[in-house]
Amino acid sequence: MRRIGIIGGMSWQSSAVLYRLVNEFAHDAQGGHASADCVMTSVNFDVVRELQLRNDWDGAGELLADRARSLRAAGAEAVTLCTNTMHKVAPAIVEALGDVPFLHVADSVAARCEAIGAKTVGLLGTRCTMSDGFYLDLLEARGLTVWVPDPAAQVDVDSIIFEHLVHGRTPASARERYREVMAALERKGCEAIVLGCTEIGLLVDDTDATVPLVDTTVEQARTAVDFMLA
Ligand code: GLU
Repeated sequence: MRRIGIIGGMSWQSSAVLYRLVNEFAHDAQGGHASADCVMTSVNFDVVRELQLRNDWDGAGELLADRARSLRAAGAEAVTLCTNTMHKVAPAIVEALGDVPFLHVADSVAARCEAIGAKTVGLLGTRCTMSDGFYLDLLEARGLTVWVPDPAAQVDVDSIIFEHLVHGRTPASARERYREVMAALERKGCEAIVLGCTEIGLLVDDTDATVPLVDTTVEQARTAVDFMLA
C-alpha cells in the first residue's frame, strides 16, 4: 500500500470525514485488519480564514506549501488537500511537492461526473469556489458545463458554510435553503450537483435532490485510496 498525505483542518469537521472514509475504503478493498497508510497535517483554520479574508493568497500558499513539504518528509507518496477553496493555491503546493503527485480535486470531480454520465453540472461551494476561475475553469477544461447559483443564492450558500457547517452545525433552515438552490440548478438542466465544499455533505444527501450529488470529500477519499492501492 502506498502512503497518502492529507492536508486538513479546513475545516476539521470535513477532515474527520475524509479520514474515516479513506480508512473505510481501504478496509473495504483489502479486508482483514487493513486500514489506510496515511500521514495527516491539520492547520489552525482561524489562521487560514484570516488569510482568505485578507486576500493573502501568497501567504496561504506558503503555509500550505510548508505543510506539503512536511508530508513529503514523512514519506507521503501523493498528497490530497481536503478543501476545495484552498485549491486556489494548488500551484504553490505542487511546487513544494516536487515529484510527489498532488491529487487535485478537479480531477476527482471530473472522473466521477464522467462515471455517472453528467456533462452539465451545478456547483455549490464557498463564494471563492463558485466565482473564481481557479475552480470553474478547471472543471470546464475537463469537458464539463458548469452552472452556479444566482448571486443572492451564492451569498446564502457561502454564509451557511462559514456560519454553520465549519462549526459542525446543520440547522434545518440551512438544509431547506440548499434544497431550494439545488432545485433551481436542476431546473437549469444540471444533471448532477457538485458539492464543491467539503462540509456540504454534512448538510445534504441524495434525498435532497433529484439528480446525483458529487460529494468532493467522498471523491477525494476515493481518489486517494485508488492511488494507495494502485
Ligand atoms: N472546506 C471548504 C471547501 O471545501 C471551505 C473551507 C475553506 O475555506 O477552506 O472549500
